[in-house]
Amino acid sequence: MFILEKTTEQVKEVRVVRSVYFDHSGTTPVHPAVAEEMYRYLIGDSFGNPSSVNHLGLQVRKKVTEARDIAAQAIGAAPGEIVFTSGGTESDNMAIHGAAYTNKSRGNHIITSAVEHHAVLNTVKALGKQGFNITILPVDQYGMVSVDDVAAAITDRTILITIMHANNEVGTIMPIAEIGKLARERKIVFHVDAVQSFGKIPVNVDELGANLLSLSGHKIYGPKGIGVLYIRKGTRWRQTLFHGGAQERLRRAGTENIPGIMGLAKAIELAMENREAESARLMVLRDKLIKGLTSIENVRLTGHPVKRLPNHASFLFKCIEGESMLISLDMKRIAASTGSACTSGSLEPSHVLLAMGIPHADAHGSLRLTLGKDNTDDDVDYLLEVIKPIVEKLRNMSPLED
Ligand SMILES: *Cc1c(COP(=O)(O)O)cnc(C)c1O
Repeated sequence: MFILEKTTEQVKEVRVVRSVYFDHSGTTPVHPAVAEEMYRYLIGDSFGNPSSVNHLGLQVRKKVTEARDIAAQAIGAAPGEIVFTSGGTESDNMAIHGAAYTNKSRGNHIITSAVEHHAVLNTVKALGKQGFNITILPVDQYGMVSVDDVAAAITDRTILITIMHANNEVGTIMPIAEIGKLARERKIVFHVDAVQSFGKIPVNVDELGANLLSLSGHKIYGPKGIGVLYIRKGTRWRQTLFHGGAQERLRRAGTENIPGIMGLAKAIELAMENREAESARLMVLRDKLIKGLTSIENVRLTGHPVKRLPNHASFLFKCIEGESMLISLDMKRIAASTGSACTSGSLEPSHVLLAMGIPHADAHGSLRLTLGKDNTDDDVDYLLEVIKPIVEKLRNMSPLED
């Protein structure tokens, strides 16, 4: 991608600057075909309320049905099992809160992992303060949950297991199908956050053994603020968070986000069409990044070396602050990300890296490069070219160096 940069106020001179986006796990650009589809539902007479019994409402209602069919087919579900939500965070909250309270008479034990997205982890922790008994499973050095640990944690009081399909920070793909099998044998509701995996690796609710599964639009070139919660027919789950109208068959009250739903359906269609070829293409770029960066001294890969998302490369740089690295890369117009989040001025290292046993000091030196549809081999070369002098410079001025 190239952007024009004005170098003077009068635009006497225009420089073309390379701009590279390597943060697709954070969010993705809206695909032009998605934007076009959404625009159709923002203008003219496509503004109907699908709950209204008039021709405008009925017309939109039909389109929502089509969108639901597309979402269902993509994950091997039935259309009646698809609920549109406001995104991955809402899907996770709805899934976990609903399953916990619906099964309260059967038990109060919930199992999750230490590397979940905060939308899952903080929801489970909140339930812990409301009388639920929480087990947060450890992970190995690759950020992987062990199936044996899940089995050992299950008790007669266990009502819910929630484990992510693929990790957003380190790209590790979890043994979801095996955990799903365990959950089914023990008749425990199983929720899977598939926000990162969908569109990159196969996501089939039967193969994964999921009762509940979360998707988000903006991680797959769709809009922000729209997502899906899959709810398997017969699952002991009912809605516990929203009180209102009868939309989404009483599972999610509130007038539907029609442009969002239509955009999401288009994004899902494109993801299904392109997944295999695109994942194969990105895997080559990913491996080139990994090879190039790990050849720099004191840089290592984080996450699983093989069982990882095809577009995901994440690293630890010894004696470098991830934030400084991000700023230096950004000055070269490379948008990347770090595992650590800056909370109110103080740097808190990533809970994922800490759970993987990485020491506090080292966890600050993380860099995540996640690839997407507009990335090329040239982008990778550009990064590999600019990063070496940056590493050298930052290490020379690092207070962390001994
Ligand atoms: C982005 C993300 C979410 C949150 O989705 P939103 O649509 O941004 O609310 C949840 N889980 C994972 C794994 C994610 O990467």
